[in-house]
Amino acid sequence: MDHHAILARTLNARVAKVMPHPTPLTPARGLSEKLSIPVLLKREDLTPVFSFKLRGAYNRIAMLDERCAARGVIAASAGNHAQGVAYSARRLGIDARVVMPATTPKIKIDAVRRHGARVDLIGRDYYEAAAACEVIAAETGMTPVPAYDDPDVIAGQATVALEILRQAGGPLGSIFVPVGGGGLASGIAAVIKAVRPEIKVIGVEPDDSDAMTRSIQAGHRVALERVGIFADGAAVRMVGETTFGLCRRYLDACITVTIDQICAGIRDVFEETRAVLEPAGALAIAGLKRFASEGRVPSGPAIAIASGANVDFGALGFIANRAAASPDSDYGSRGKVPTPA
Ligand SMILES: *Cc1c(COP(=O)(O)O)cnc(C)c1O
Repeated sequence: MDHHAILARTLNARVAKVMPHPTPLTPARGLSEKLSIPVLLKREDLTPVFSFKLRGAYNRIAMLDERCAARGVIAASAGNHAQGVAYSARRLGIDARVVMPATTPKIKIDAVRRHGARVDLIGRDYYEAAAACEVIAAETGMTPVPAYDDPDVIAGQATVALEILRQAGGPLGSIFVPVGGGGLASGIAAVIKAVRPEIKVIGVEPDDSDAMTRSIQAGHRVALERVGIFADGAAVRMVGETTFGLCRRYLDACITVTIDQICAGIRDVFEETRAVLEPAGALAIAGLKRFASEGRVPSGPAIAIASGANVDFGALGFIANRAAASPDSDYGSRGKVPTPA
């Protein structure tokens, strides 16, 4: 599939039914000053499930024919995809079942149940849950909804790019996008290259979960032996086949950031908006800052996608401490506390 095919699917995506209004695209004044270019945040943390994931899930489920819809949908996920699937299925009046690893925190299990899905707790990690999901799907005839490697999921996520182009309504320099399995990044990159190829699209991964960066470098998909799970929304062992093909062709760059840089990004967004992003949700902001510190940000406004806010409350102490240790911190080792403006 090329960028024109993805653009066509994205224009036909049915996301407007579940997201009648675009998420805000808001200027980030502090970051703009710090980086000396206009910076805008695309607020995907403000959807009904606190991440962009319902775009792809809803679009995929809405495309099912009547017979498949009657049998229901199933997904394996410990995180945001599960909520996207459960929320979307309920809105479409379709049965949903989600297989989650037995180790999944209760708060995430409860969120999925609240959206009306049946939860099966199976396996020690995502991969065991995914294997069980396949077996149940085969037994029940339920349709599996992939988290990223599917053209309609990719097109659903790519509606973020259509919204950005309409909301920005003028020249743009760059768009920074978080990368896990690559669904969001491949969709955005393909749509942008189809209609506004001058805008640079940059993928951002955690440096301990950098399957896309390594795969692009190798020229084929690479399976990681170990995956860091701090940014759990973006932690995958191997990227998708379709998403890899699209990211390889259409991303202008794919870069990595450290855990400390992610934590500093969470703090930056908190200072701008008083919203607390989850680690994966702040990847794009951290990537933009890294690019800026290296003098590589293209001229023109830069957009960073704030992709989600499903943070474990218990992780906030760790995040605040690591942000304080990050080099650009105002609260760092120099012990300087900024005075209010
Ligand atoms: C899923 C997710 C990502 C990564 O998206 P992919 O389509 O898997 O690349 C990034 N941030 C958040 C908050 C997510 O939930």
